[in-house]
Amino acid sequence: MTLMAWLEQQVNLKNDSMGLLKTLLKEKYWSGEVEIHPDNTITFYAILSISMVADTEYNIEHYIVNLQNITDIKEAHQRIERMAFYDSLTGLANRQLAIEYINTTIKHHHRHNTFSSLLYINIDRFKSINDAFGRKTGDRFLKKIAEVLQKILRDEDNIARIGGDEFVVATQDSETNLEIATRNANKLALKISNALNHQFIVDDLKLHSSARIGLIVFPSSQEDTAETLLINADLAVSKAKELKKRHKIHFYESILTEEMKSLRQLEHELNDAHKKGEIHLFYQAQMGSENTLYGAETLVRWIHPKLGFIPPDKFISIAEESRQILKLGAWIMYHAFMQAKKWAKNSKDFNLSINISPIQFHEADFIDNVIAILSETKTDAKNITLELTEGILISDTESAIEKIARLVELGFKVSIDDFGTGYSSLSYFQRLPIHELKIDKSFIARVPESKENVAIVESILHLANTKKLAIVAEGVESKEQIEFLHKRFSDILIQGYYYSKPCHASEFEKIFLRNPSEKQLELA
Ligand code: C2E
Ligand code: CA
Ligand code: CA
Repeated sequence: MTLMAWLEQQVNLKNDSMGLLKTLLKEKYWSGEVEIHPDNTITFYAILSISMVADTEYNIEHYIVNLQNITDIKEAHQRIERMAFYDSLTGLANRQLAIEYINTTIKHHHRHNTFSSLLYINIDRFKSINDAFGRKTGDRFLKKIAEVLQKILRDEDNIARIGGDEFVVATQDSETNLEIATRNANKLALKISNALNHQFIVDDLKLHSSARIGLIVFPSSQEDTAETLLINADLAVSKAKELKKRHKIHFYESILTEEMKSLRQLEHELNDAHKKGEIHLFYQAQMGSENTLYGAETLVRWIHPKLGFIPPDKFISIAEESRQILKLGAWIMYHAFMQAKKWAKNSKDFNLSINISPIQFHEADFIDNVIAILSETKTDAKNITLELTEGILISDTESAIEKIARLVELGFKVSIDDFGTGYSSLSYFQRLPIHELKIDKSFIARVPESKENVAIVESILHLANTKKLAIVAEGVESKEQIEFLHKRFSDILIQGYYYSKPCHASEFEKIFLRNPSEKQLELA
């Protein structure tokens, strides 16, 4: 039997055997890594060394073959490699491997003038699942998501988990036509969005998943790198979040980068906006039965010197993300408390509602800060309602309940704002010493036309009734809405454009406080 025939029987030479023979004849020695398969199921790895013993005339006398088993080392290496490049929870590629793959793909496309796509997938409400049911359930939920993705994608498409609830798919296409590449990307995103719109049973819980998807077809320029593509796709995901459509899918456009830059600029300018007198507090009336004034909600406004009015929906989220809301929120509280004190002088039951951001509320020294502002402004807490959102109960529920109890002890009323829109568990509800529910304006809209909204509003009114809670309907714009609400809950408080838009304190006084009887006549 020749050496090669013998070797082929024993081991799997990964290198070509011609190379081995050439080296052996030239150097009289060869060494390399081989695999050994004693049967179909087992693989050993070994270093094979072959020395050739020949006489002076090059007649081969014999070979000395040495096999060193390196299976342990090899497996350890593979494990380390997996740990460095694969996500241990789902077994998918991790961020680092995704970056390497995308960078290689970019080079390929530049050479061949082709395109493929990158899909950035963000799972909705994952944080609340984690917070509400614990990390282990969250992990199992993510594993299910990973399985769904693996099932519907082709083997060649690369899927990676690059963050807690963030997955990336880099397709294997090599499309010369940008339009077709774009269409394909959109089709794939729809397929993923459909597949992820799904209910999983995890730990006996029914958890519904859905996703937002940011899309990018690349390369879009010579400057593309995996990092910039991921940043851009992530921006597209943020945009997808705002969509009201069933499929939250958004393509990246360069305007998103511009928007991000202007957001960072706004964040910078917001820092001292209140010191420059650009932040104003507006007040919107809350009316009781028979058009009597109950109080007002404080709504913050930013009048930017160049950009003009910036809605709070926009800048409050900037302030929250950058945590500037802590400083801004304290500033709002101070001025609103002062206003409440002023207005309570003439009408002692006047109530001023103030929105409290969850970021503010969750701070360890929140209660201390409220106490400090209360004593500094010498305001009576009984004239103030603090509006909190259901979201604050999701994480750290016990401490949230305790804080609410402390606020009530201090004399404040506590209201749950945007009631019905959150993900809160009604089981905690029993233990909350709250005073009021605010029905979100999205439910009040299209009442009484929309049967669905009518049903929601009626069930909230029913809940408020049984729990003896006050109730505010916000976003009330028409007489029909008021009649509908009064019929079902005679003590309901009404807030909305029907009575007044939020306005400056001086205007509020003019309309509602100087001559209330006149207003009453006008509205009657
Ligand atoms: P919100 O607390 O739910 O406030 C009610 C929003 O509904 C206000 O929008 C108000 O102007 C608007 N609104 C009132 N009546 C009507 C109506 O009849 N029709 C319609 N279509 N809208 C009506 P605004 O002032 O733009 O505030 C938006 C959100 O910004 C607030 O929602 C609140 O979440 C936040 N916000 C406002 N001021 C503050 C604040 O001082 N602190 C914090 N943390 N958040 C604030
Ligand atoms: Ca509010
Ligand atoms: Ca609200």
